[in-house]
Amino acid sequence: MSQSQQQQAQVLTGNLGYPRIGAGREWKKALESFWAGRIDEPTLHQELTTLRLQDLKKQQTQQLDLIPVGDFSYYDHILDVSAMFGVVPERFNHTGGPVSVSTYYAMARGNDQATACEMTKWLNTNYHYIVPEIHNDTAFALLENKPLAAYREAKQELGLEGKPVVVGPYSYVRFAKGYDAERFAEIVTRLVPVYAQLLSELQAEGVQWVQIDEPALTLAVSSEDEALLQQVYAALAQAAPELKLLLQTYFESVEAYPVVTALPVAGIGLDLVHGYEGNLASLREHGFPQDKWLGAGVIDGRNIWRADLAETAKLLEQVAEFAAEGKLIIQPSCSLLHVPVTAAQESALDPVLRNALAFANEKLEEIATLGTLLSGGAKQADQAAAVAEATRRVEASTEAVRLLSESESRTRLSGSPAGVYADEQLLRSASFQERRELQQQKWSLPLLPTTTIGSFPQTADVRKARALFRKGEWNAEQYDAYVREQIQEWITIQEEIGLDVLVHGEFERTDMVEFFGEKLTGFAFTKNGWVQSYGSRCVKPPVIYGDVLFNEPMTVKETAYAQTLTSKPVKGMLTGPVTILNWSFVRSDIPRSEVSYQIARAIRDEVEALEQAGIEMIQVDEPALREGLPLKGSKWDEYLQWAVESFRLATATVKPTTQVHTHMCYCEFDDIIEAISDLDADVISIETSRSHGELVGSFEQNTYDKGIGLGVYDIHSPRVPGKDEMLNMIERALQVLPADLFWVNPDCGLKTRGKAEVVDALSIMVDAARTARERV
Ligand code: GLN
Ligand code: ZN
Repeated sequence: MSQSQQQQAQVLTGNLGYPRIGAGREWKKALESFWAGRIDEPTLHQELTTLRLQDLKKQQTQQLDLIPVGDFSYYDHILDVSAMFGVVPERFNHTGGPVSVSTYYAMARGNDQATACEMTKWLNTNYHYIVPEIHNDTAFALLENKPLAAYREAKQELGLEGKPVVVGPYSYVRFAKGYDAERFAEIVTRLVPVYAQLLSELQAEGVQWVQIDEPALTLAVSSEDEALLQQVYAALAQAAPELKLLLQTYFESVEAYPVVTALPVAGIGLDLVHGYEGNLASLREHGFPQDKWLGAGVIDGRNIWRADLAETAKLLEQVAEFAAEGKLIIQPSCSLLHVPVTAAQESALDPVLRNALAFANEKLEEIATLGTLLSGGAKQADQAAAVAEATRRVEASTEAVRLLSESESRTRLSGSPAGVYADEQLLRSASFQERRELQQQKWSLPLLPTTTIGSFPQTADVRKARALFRKGEWNAEQYDAYVREQIQEWITIQEEIGLDVLVHGEFERTDMVEFFGEKLTGFAFTKNGWVQSYGSRCVKPPVIYGDVLFNEPMTVKETAYAQTLTSKPVKGMLTGPVTILNWSFVRSDIPRSEVSYQIARAIRDEVEALEQAGIEMIQVDEPALREGLPLKGSKWDEYLQWAVESFRLATATVKPTTQVHTHMCYCEFDDIIEAISDLDADVISIETSRSHGELVGSFEQNTYDKGIGLGVYDIHSPRVPGKDEMLNMIERALQVLPADLFWVNPDCGLKTRGKAEVVDALSIMVDAARTARERV
C-alpha cells in the first residue's frame, strides 16, 4: 500500500442518529395533523418520507462514511422495535402481521378501548420512550424488517449505502417491563433468533455496517449478564458473519469493558464526552482489540457548543494510539436526536453566541472536518482548508465564551453554598411535624384534598393571544387583560368542580423553563432549537451563558390576581432550579452545581415575593431532578447533594405556615426517596398513573412521611378515565399511605389537553375523592 492510500484509510467518519423532527418541526405537524384527522394515512407516509429523505441528503452532503438509516421513527424508536417484534400488549387486539399505524399510535397514546403503554425517560435524557411490555411468555416474531426497509429506501432513492441502526437485545429487554427479573436471560435468549433473522436479511441484502445500540452496557452489568452477552453476540455473529456490527454505547463509560470489547463484533462505539474519564481509563488499562474498529464519540451529542476542534483532534490522536491502523471512526458521542437540527437559522441571536453554537448539522460538519484533519496526506488540499476552517471556528467560539463570561461578572458564583452562599438559609425554621400542625390549623383542608399540577389547557386561542402580543399587535395591557380573563374563567371552573386548592393556570407561560429564563438574566433563546421530548412534543431548551440573576417578580401579578377571585387557596407555581438547569443547555466550562445554586438563589427571591404578596402555598416543580441523576451510582451522592441543596436554598426561608409543594414526573423514585424526603417539601405530587400504580409500592417500602399526591389519572392520554378507575387508584394508594397525608391530583400539568376533557376528568376526580373520603 502506498503511503497516501494507507493514510487515507486511517479514519472513517460516521453519525449515530439524526433528529427526526425537521428543521421547521415538519414531523410534529405531520403527526398532529394525522391524529386530528386533517390528513390521511397515505399523506402522512408521504410527508414523513419526504422529511426522512431530506434528512439523509443533508447527511450525505457531509460525505460521512457511515450514515445511519432506520433511526427515523413515526413516534419513538423503541416503540418501533416493539412493533417490529410483535411486542404488542393484548389489550390492543393485534392479530398478527405488521402492526398497523393505528395500533402503533394506540400503543403510544392510548385510545377509547385501551390505555397507552408506559412512557419513561431514556436513560438520563429528557427523551421519553415507550416502555416495551414483555411477559415471561411473550413470543417474539419478526413482523417486518424496518432497518432493511430503511436501507433499501436510502439506496434506491439516494444511492446511499446506509448503516442500519437498531437497539440491541440486551438493552431492549433491560428497558422493558412486565417480566420477572430472574427470567431476564431467558427472554433475551428468546429474542436472539429474531435479531438473527433481522441481521441475516440485512446481510443478504448486501448491507455492510449495522449499528447495534447497547446503551445498557454503561449501567451495572452483572457477571451472569457478561456470560449472556457473550452467548447473544456469538449467535448474532454466526447468523450474519459478513456484517460489520458496530456495538454502540453512549451517555457513560462502558462497564465490564474487557468483556464488552471482546465480544465478536466488528466495532465498539465509546462515548468519549460523557464517558470520557472512565473509557479513557479502560483504554489505558486494557488497551483495545486490534481486530476491531474503535468508534470514538468525541463530538458532544448532548450539548450545543462548538467543539474546540484542535483539542478534539488531540484527543483523537491519543485515542487512535489504542486502535489498529485504519480502524478509527470519528463519531458524535451519541445520536444527535438530543440536539436541535441546525444553528444556521438562529439569525436573531447575538452573532457572538451564535458562532459558539453547533447543532446537529454543525456537529456533522465538525466530524467531517476532523475526518479530513486526521486522514493525513491523501487529501492535502482539503486538509489545508479544513485546518484553516477549524482554527477559525475554534477561535470564534473561544472568543465567544470569553466575551460572554466577561459580559456579566460572575461575582456570585461559588463552588457550593458553603462558599459564597454560606450565610444563606438551607433549613426551614420548623420541622415538618411542627409545620404540619401549623399548616393544618391555617388551611383546614378536608381529608384527601384535591388540586392540580398547575397548568390548564394552552388552547389555540391562548397561543394566538401570545403571538399577537409578541408581534406587537397587542400591547401589554391587552395581553394582560386576556390572561386575566382566562384566569377568571378557570378559577370559576375550578370552584364549580369543587377543587380544594386552586391554581391560576399558567396561561402566560409558553414553557415552564423558558418563561423564567426570559425574566432572569443569563439566558438566551433560540428560534428553532427544538428537541423531541415525547411523541410529537418538542422542547426548546434555553441557553444559559452568563450569570443567572433575579430582576423583578415574575409570577406575582397573575397569582395574586387569581387569589383575589376566590376564597380558596391559590397555589403559586414556580419551576425549580434543578429543572431549569437540566432543561437548559448549560456551558460546559462551569460546574453545573454552580449554575444550579445561582438559579436557586434567584428562585428564592420569587418565592419570597409570592409569600409577601399573600400567596402561602407555593409549588416549586422539579420534574427533571431525577433525570439529571448520573448513570453511574458512584456519582449519585455528589449530584443529589447539590440538587437537594439547590431546592432548599430556593425554598427554606418561608414561614412555617407557608406550604411548599413540589412536583415530579416520569421517574423511578425508589432509589432517590431519601433525597426527595431531604427536599423537605410539605407536599409532593408525583406521576404514577402511567406506571400503573407501581410507585405506590416504592413509597410503601420507604415510608415517606410527608404530604404526598399520587397522580390518580394519566393526563398524557386523551382518554377520560371513569370514576371507578380513579377511585381504585386512590384506594390502592390508601392501603399503603396514611390518609391524612394523601392528596388527590392528576399526574401532571394539563396544558396539552382540551378544555372539555379536563373539566370532565377533574369533575370525576373530585367525585372520586369525595367517595373515598366517605370510606376512610
Ligand atoms: N406546573 C407545571 C404544569 O402544570 C408542571 C409541568 C411538569 O411537571 N412537567 O404544567
Ligand atoms: Zn409533571
